[in-house]
Formats: sequence, structure tokens, C-alpha cells
Amino acid sequence: MRVDAPVPAAVFEQQLAAEGFDVLFGATPDRPGPPWSVELIVLPAERAALAARGLTIEVIAKGRPFADILAEQSAARGVPSGYLDNAGILAELNSLAASYPALAQVVDLTTTYGTPATVEGRHLYALKISDNVAMEEDEPAFLMVAAHHCREVVTPVIALDTANRLLSTYATDAVVRAAVDANEIWIAPVWNPDGYNFVFTGDNLWRKNRRVFGGDIGVDQNRNYPFGWNTGCSGSTSPSSNTYKGPSPGSEAETQTMVAWSADRRFAMVLDFHSRGRETLWGYACPSTPVDTLWRAKATQLSQASGYNGDERPPSADGEHYQWQFATHGSMSFLTETHTSFQPTHASAMAEAATVWPGTLWFLAEDMPLTGTVTDGCSGLPLEATIRVTSLGFTEGEVIVSGGAFGRYHAFLPAGVHTMRVEATGYTTRDVQVTIAAAGGTTFDIGLDAVGSGAVVFCNATANSTGQVPTISVNGSSSIAQNQFTVVVERLPALQLAFLFMGQNFVQRPVFGGVLCIDRQSYRFPLTPVDLFGYTAQTVDLTQPTHQLSSVAVGSTWGFQLIYRDPAAGGWGLNYSPGLSVTFCP
Ligand SMILES: [Zn+2]
Repeated sequence: MRVDAPVPAAVFEQQLAAEGFDVLFGATPDRPGPPWSVELIVLPAERAALAARGLTIEVIAKGRPFADILAEQSAARGVPSGYLDNAGILAELNSLAASYPALAQVVDLTTTYGTPATVEGRHLYALKISDNVAMEEDEPAFLMVAAHHCREVVTPVIALDTANRLLSTYATDAVVRAAVDANEIWIAPVWNPDGYNFVFTGDNLWRKNRRVFGGDIGVDQNRNYPFGWNTGCSGSTSPSSNTYKGPSPGSEAETQTMVAWSADRRFAMVLDFHSRGRETLWGYACPSTPVDTLWRAKATQLSQASGYNGDERPPSADGEHYQWQFATHGSMSFLTETHTSFQPTHASAMAEAATVWPGTLWFLAEDMPLTGTVTDGCSGLPLEATIRVTSLGFTEGEVIVSGGAFGRYHAFLPAGVHTMRVEATGYTTRDVQVTIAAAGGTTFDIGLDAVGSGAVVFCNATANSTGQVPTISVNGSSSIAQNQFTVVVERLPALQLAFLFMGQNFVQRPVFGGVLCIDRQSYRFPLTPVDLFGYTAQTVDLTQPTHQLSSVAVGSTWGFQLIYRDPAAGGWGLNYSPGLSVTFCP
């Protein structure tokens, strides 16, 4: 692990060694001024003792081979030969796009999204890989990003190797072809280009970006994300620290570009590479989440498929990129720590890329547990909606989002029955219930009604003999053209008789055991039984004047109410559902 040193590294190394710690002397550069840090090998109890002193700790490897440690310590300063710098990586991306023009495109994200360039004026780039790459297709977006921490030079090697393999074997490998055909794959090899440049030209163990704060330099880009930025486990508030989280959430140009890009693409799957450690990270450091069991199980599978024996752990901090992707988009999102060394030989990095490649292919073939679209219930046009899972105990304001050309959303949620609240500007908020299957992925499309149209409960009912107030709602749509309109009433006394009626004269008047909401009924539907679970549903054919109306006109508003037998009700033993007002659209 690495610990931030309050005094120059050489001094702190001596202090810790005198206390009996196993110090890796000289593992980090000693500078004239902070930040200083010291690396050491600890047992869990020793780590806890250091954490209890308030020192900032980062676990960087578990059980590293001693040969790697010796090699790193004895290595001359400087990145080993064979690694590409910024210009080399961009040239490689352009070369791939030129070689596979139908499958790959280089995108200048900074220009595309109009976000600020880095403090040293650099842009951020990604390679898009998909069949019909120039088209916007209704496919899940997969993001692989590397080098948020610039000294982790193995990670861009893995990103480029992945791009190479996807493109060069597309024509011959059915598994690769299926992955490329079914997904929109985005690969961003270097998310910290200023720092990455400095790794090649200044200090090869530099971690942060290069923004200047008085006498200090750099924000830890994997602590700067605007989620979990302020938990008890977020990054350091000191610009001298190697884990400085920045002056405000999302303060850095690189973070802002990721925020804009992700809002546009809504990545269903995210794989963020770091080094070192050979394990997959999931979840938050401080708060727990209601999906931790699923998140950990998938991390174990990803680690297993990536050649890392199923090793996984929660992260060491909050405010990290992959956490933000999950919490603000619903992404299935992981961080993989790769290799056992920051800067092994290039040949060793290439061997590591080959090791993790099956894990990436495995991930690309995984089904999202839940996907669907959110659209205008009348026009079918896609909507940008915010979805909150209200039946799980999320505590940090986590949301799922829909949008884009298809109104698609993706959600990383466990199997089971969930209630989701769906909100979009200008539309009536809707609570929907969805059952996510244990395997295979579940599709669930959601229609919303524009404010002023659609279905609204307008008249309240009284509790019945079940002790509950009945609910009334619409399954389907208030679109006459779609003709999928069913009125559903729940929480009724089981095995009774009921009938639905409709009309346009709205009232609110106590009658029998309940409240009448529609006077002078235009039409009574036939008697219908209430089932064992206190539920009844009446499908209304909007195209046929079976209800003795000339038509249900576009823009006309009708009220629906159910009258039902309730043995315990007073009067005639009759009661009413709430009233539902529906304005029909084309
Ligand atoms: Zn890292």
C-alpha cells in the first residue's frame, strides 16, 4: 500500500521502519516539496493502525511477487521502452480507423461536446467501434477507459490491444463479431493526457493531472467525479496529496468531458482500467448499496474471466469514475486493477492485455438485467426521463436515465419485483412495477403522458373491508390509434362482483359506502368478477362504439369509476373506486 507522508518520504520511511513496518525504501520519488508518499507492505492489522492515525492510504497491490518489487526499485527512472506517448496513441487510433473505416471512427470528444480542453490545451479522444459505425443504432453502449491515473501505463496498452483485437478478428471470430454487432463500443485509452505527457517527459510515476494550485500540482482524476465526492471516504482536500479530489465536484476539464459524453451515450457497461493489483473493484467505499450482492457477484465473474481468479474488493475511496457511472446512469460498471507493476516491460504489458482480453469479451456478452425505452405515450417519441428505484433502499440519490434517439435506458438491478418512479419534464410522473428475470435480461418499455393529457386520479375513495383504499390506473396508453387501453382497479375485496362505468359529468358525492365521482353515466360495462387477489381489469375498445358513444374523440376527457360489492360496507353493501380522468390523444 501507499501512504501519504506528512514529511519528506525519506524521513517518513525511516520513522515507519523504526516502528517495525516493512518499508519499500525509495519506491516513490522524494521531492523537494510535497506531495510525499511512502510504500510499504502491511498486514491487515498494520493497515488499520495506520488508517487510525488519519493517514491517507491507497491499496495498490495484494501479494505482489517480490521479483516485481525488486525490478521496479532497480529500474532506471523513466518509462520502459516500447510504450506509446500521447502522439503515438492518437496515431494508432487514427491508423485503426483508416484500416477499418466501416467499423471504427476516432472521435474528438472535447470538440464534439464543446467541453474545455485540459489545462495544457489537450483534447480527449475515443475510438468508436461498431458495425455501421457511422450510424446511431439502438444498441447498448460499452465504455472502456484507461489512464485516469497517468503512470498506470499498462492500461492504455490494454485499451489499444482490445481495439486491435476487436477490429482485426471481426471478420474471422464469431464471438467478436457478435460483440461488435450487438454493441456500440467506445475505447478511450488516455483520460489524463497532460499527466501522461509528464510521465514521459518529467516524472514517470506522476499520478494526477497537471493543474496548478499555488505551489502544488494536480487533481486525482479518479476522485473528482460529482458523486460520492463528499462522503467520509472521498479523496483528500489537500492539493499536495496524491489523492486530491479537486476544489469542487467535477472541477476538472477531463471530468466535465466524461460527464457530457456519458450524458449523450448513457453507457450501459463501463470497464475502467487501473493498475496495479489483478482484481476487480465494485461498489462504493463508504455507503453500501442495495445492489452490492449483485455487483460483487458480477465483479467476481469478470475477474475470473479476466484471468484474475475471481479476486475482487470494494474500492479504497469514493468519487471514482466507475461509481459515478453506476449512480447517475444505472450502468453495470467496474474498475479492474491490472498487472502487479505500474511500469513493467512493454512485453509484459502486452502479455497482461492478452490475459484480460477474455474478460472483456465475457463482459460484452453479458445481458443488462433491465433495459427498455421511455416514450411519449401518444406520439411514441423518445423521452429523456429520470428513473428512481423506489422499492430498493438507495440512499445516495442514485438514478437511471433514458434518452437519445430511442429513449433507451439500461439498469443494473437484481432480479425480482421493483417499483420505479419515472419522471420527465412536461410529463405526468408515473410509478411502474417491473419484474426482472433472474437471467437473460428483461425488457420493459414505459410510456408517459404529457401533462394535461393521459390519466389522472381526480376523486378519492374510502377504505373498504380489506382495510385499504382501492387504486385505479391505466395499463397501456391513452392513444386512440394504439387502442391498448385497460382500466385496472386493485385492493378490492376478493371474489366479489363489480362493473366499470364512464361519463363526462364529474362530481364528488357520498353515496352508499363510498364516493360517487361521475354523475349521469354514459355507459356501464358488463359485470366483471374481482379475482382472488382483489384485482379487476376492464379493457376498453377505443375504436368501436360498443359503449353506445358515437366515438371517443381525440382531445375528449372521460371519467372512469368502478362500483363493487363490499360485504362490510354500509347501505346496500356497495362501494366505489377512485375516479380516473383520461384525456384521449391520437
Ligand atoms: Zn489508478
